[in-house]
Parts: sequence; C-alpha cells; structure tokens
Amino acid sequence: MSPRLPESVDPWRSADLQKRFSGQLALSMFPRLASSLTSAKGTVDYSLEFKRITRRRVAISGTLHSQLSIECQRCMGPMPYPLDVSFELIVTAGPEEAKLLSEAADSLVVVEDEGVSPLEILEDELILVLPLVAMHSEDECEVGPEEMAVGDEIVVEQEASEDESPFAVLAQLKSDLKQTN
Ligand SMILES: [Zn+2]
Repeated sequence: MSPRLPESVDPWRSADLQKRFSGQLALSMFPRLASSLTSAKGTVDYSLEFKRITRRRVAISGTLHSQLSIECQRCMGPMPYPLDVSFELIVTAGPEEAKLLSEAADSLVVVEDEGVSPLEILEDELILVLPLVAMHSEDECEVGPEEMAVGDEIVVEQEASEDESPFAVLAQLKSDLKQTN
C-alpha cells in the first residue's frame, strides 16, 4: 500500500506489482470537479488497485467516499451529496484492443509507454457520478416551503377581501345616501 499518489503511473508495471493506492485527498485537488460544487472544502477517501487481466489488458478498480456539496437546481442552495462509489476501468494497449471490449466496459486506452494519472482517473469518476440535475427532496428544499407560504398568503388575502367587501359596499351606500340627502 502506497501512502502517496504519484502524478503518473505505468499501468502495466503497477499491475504486475499489484499496486494499491489509498488515502485521503482534499477536494480542492480536483479543479474540474470543484466547478460543479458549492464548496471545495472537504476530502475524498480513495483506493485504487491495479491488476493484470491479460497480456494487453489491466484492470484498475477503485472506490471513492466523500461528502460533497452541490447546488440544488430548484432553490440554488447547497445540497449535501454523500458519495460512495466503486468503479472499474480496463486499460488497453491501444484502440484496437479497446474495440474488442464489450461496450459496457469503461476502457482507458494507453498508448505504448504513456502512463496514467491516478488523480485524473479519480476526478473523472467523481464527475461521472454527479447527478445531471440535482434537487433537494421537497421537504428539504428552500423553494418548496416558500411556495407553500406564498399560497397561504394568497388564500388569507382572498378571505380578507371577501370579509372587507360587504363593508366597503355598505360604506359606499352610506356615502351615496349622505350625498342624496
Ligand atoms: Zn433546493
């Protein structure tokens, strides 16, 4: 188990060594993810494991745990988003090998000696699991109760004007009578 996450790793070598990385990273380490968050404060617990499947294929499996804060698309307020995911990517030696994989498999094409960035992999997976449209549940959303309050006020106003109108009509009648007298 390696305490530090290297900038780039050779997936083939890492797989042969059965490398496993795990630890905790600040959310601010993921700039692309941070733009989708209401706050980049907090951390992500991660694990990444490299395994050789065949001569030209390596599996990278990992887990991510975090408590993100994303924006509710209804009230635009912050919304806690607990994240607990596991994923598996298949590293292939080239695009031809990637084509042989089933469409369901997420493949990562690595050409020759090019390494993979563990940080980029983790960030991609974090972004992938974010909901396209996030919303609070109705009882937790800022907009829900406000809309209900506005509705109540309208009802109260209607009742009040109904109560007032007979008096208003009466007042008008009185003034009309005064004028005729
Ligand atoms: Zn909301």
